[in-house]
Amino acid sequence: MTIQWFPGHMAKARREVTEKLKLIDVVIELVDARLPMSSRNPMVEQITAGKPRLIVLNKSDMADGRLTEQWMQALRKDGVDVIAVDAKHNKGLGQIHEGALRLMKDKHDRMREKGRNPSAIRALIIGIPNVGKSTLINRLAGRNIAITGDRPGVTKRQQWIKMKTGEMELLDTPGILWPKFDDQLVGYRLAATGAIKDDILNIDDIALFAIRELKTRYPEQLKARYRLNEVAGEAVDVLEAIGKNRGFVTSGYVDFERTSEMLLHELRTEKIGRVTLETVEEWATVTE
Ligand code: GDP
Repeated sequence: MTIQWFPGHMAKARREVTEKLKLIDVVIELVDARLPMSSRNPMVEQITAGKPRLIVLNKSDMADGRLTEQWMQALRKDGVDVIAVDAKHNKGLGQIHEGALRLMKDKHDRMREKGRNPSAIRALIIGIPNVGKSTLINRLAGRNIAITGDRPGVTKRQQWIKMKTGEMELLDTPGILWPKFDDQLVGYRLAATGAIKDDILNIDDIALFAIRELKTRYPEQLKARYRLNEVAGEAVDVLEAIGKNRGFVTSGYVDFERTSEMLLHELRTEKIGRVTLETVEEWATVTE
């Protein structure tokens, strides 16, 4: 589901998350492991200020494992508690309860010193659309829950869900935040991975962007998938060669739109292999 974010929606989304924060102990911030920075809300630090936060790199099954490891090391060095999971296939989810316990340890220790037993940790899942919030809630609950509130402003009565993986309760509606799409590069990265809908940006432009990314970051995977001898040329020439190889040709011309759609579909369904479209080094230079 794609949400068109307007200032009013953003303000409302922020208010809703702020309200929910009052009810919980720990924030679970879901991020796409293929885009650990671009898939974060630009104001998440401010919005969740004061609450212990676990960053969860989801969709790690689709991301480049070596880079996921680098991202986790860099974030941990910055004092961030971060884990990597694959919510769709139920992998690594036990780490969420462990992480929440880590974040609550001091508070729980103090309570025990006073002879009080800590109650179950209460958590809220937050993230931009399409990072896997609903999938994660369902996995943690061990059953399918209708997550109707998956739009800012659509509210329903909130309920606590007992997690299967540990003594923990989860708010059944996630906090939805907007992405940093005003930055063009971030917008294209989100579009290439399918986090924002194709009709917001031109499909050929997204495909050309994806090719430029792939030919620099994963040239061998790109060559292997589309039987190309080389990918050194312009992105448009690579796209044309891909279309030709797939037989997407009418009256002697490559059908660029069809080729673009196919390429993006294959990128988003891991046919081109596991990819991560931003590195720690690149991000460091952007934020300096
Ligand atoms: P939400 O908008 O944040 O609630 O995202 P959804 O839970 O609806 O997930 C968006 C899409 O990502 C769905 O097609 C999910 O099946 C898929 N998805 C969610 N988590 C994972 C994951 O860990 N790995 C993979 N490969 N796909 C996932």
